[in-house]
Amino acid sequence: MTLQTELMVALKEAEPEIIKLRRMLHAHPEVSFHEEETAKIIKSFYRRNGMQTVNYGDGYGFVVDINSGKPGKRLALRADFDALAVQEDNDLPFKSQNPGVMHACGHDGHTAYLMILARELYKRRNQLSGMVRILHQPAEEVSPGGAKSMIKDGVLDGIDNVLGAHVMSSMPTRSFNYHLAETQTGRANFTLIFTGRGGHASMPHLANDAIVAGSYFVTALQTVVSRRIDPFDTASVTIGSFDGVGSFNAIKQSVTLKGDVRIMKETTRKTIRTQIEQLVHGVEVMFGVTAKLDYDDNYPVLYNDPDFTKAVVASVKKAKLASVTAITDCGPQDPSEDFAYYAQERPSAFIYIGCDVADGKSHPHHSSSFMMDESCLLTAAQVMGTATLVYLGV
Ligand code: MN
Repeated sequence: MTLQTELMVALKEAEPEIIKLRRMLHAHPEVSFHEEETAKIIKSFYRRNGMQTVNYGDGYGFVVDINSGKPGKRLALRADFDALAVQEDNDLPFKSQNPGVMHACGHDGHTAYLMILARELYKRRNQLSGMVRILHQPAEEVSPGGAKSMIKDGVLDGIDNVLGAHVMSSMPTRSFNYHLAETQTGRANFTLIFTGRGGHASMPHLANDAIVAGSYFVTALQTVVSRRIDPFDTASVTIGSFDGVGSFNAIKQSVTLKGDVRIMKETTRKTIRTQIEQLVHGVEVMFGVTAKLDYDDNYPVLYNDPDFTKAVVASVKKAKLASVTAITDCGPQDPSEDFAYYAQERPSAFIYIGCDVADGKSHPHHSSSFMMDESCLLTAAQVMGTATLVYLGV
């Protein structure tokens, strides 16, 4: 039996174990930067299997190295393990036991399949070449993200390439999906406070209405994408929060707005930021209000290295895995991902495994009703395992 066949059989046999682990993680979610218990659970699994963990970064991130003891290429496989501040609406035997917290993005699944894949690779480490670094990352969901501090701490030192996967409820279960080059959006977030002067609604001339200033800003903001971005480029600007609650007969002193910016080119990021700063200044001048803009450029555009990604796709195609039903270029994806930081440092690939539930009740990621078809987890393990063996040339 080839090593590839042997690994695929072992992963298939371990499928119930992957699902059990995923359910256990699902029942005990923790929000970004607070995943202390989650990290303990994962580490104790490795300890039981005789594997060492090493901490990296400011948060609860850590790695497990699988050394073959032989020269060769060095690949990092990444899974994130944070959950979201969402109250779960699913009625499941393994539903979240932590009120207001839910694994609503599938990171429980990423972690579970990678733990088992790591163990199976470790058992066969003498048959490998080079090294595989298993990268368990916290805090993917919240800026500044968990990846940044792990990279700063040297997690990619000596690593040649990074490979990551996300389950996707928008894609058919057990499909393997990819895209080359710019694949997920980059992101910025901002908080903007306009302050005028509060007063009596019957005497607007003695006050300075922050709601009017804020409203002009929101309207003017709509011109940023439509008038300043090349129609062949793409971007979105959203005001997700406008704190205008007051009463009938009072003029509001200040309003707070929260905004979100998504881009597919780093040059567009600069254009939009400059435009927003200009509009904010314009509203200050026009209405005599003062503005405080707190602008956070965070996740970069996720760039999949074309050569490395093509090699991963080719290896999966060639393996003709029973757990993979389709191999598709899914095009670029709207959400942002802090995997993008690894991809800035090393040629990387971030791929997608469909997890659409069969009953047509699929919900988007981050929804309180998000669910995955758990058969996607074996697909993820086998795809990543295959790509790893082919990459290492064993
Ligand atoms: Mn996610």
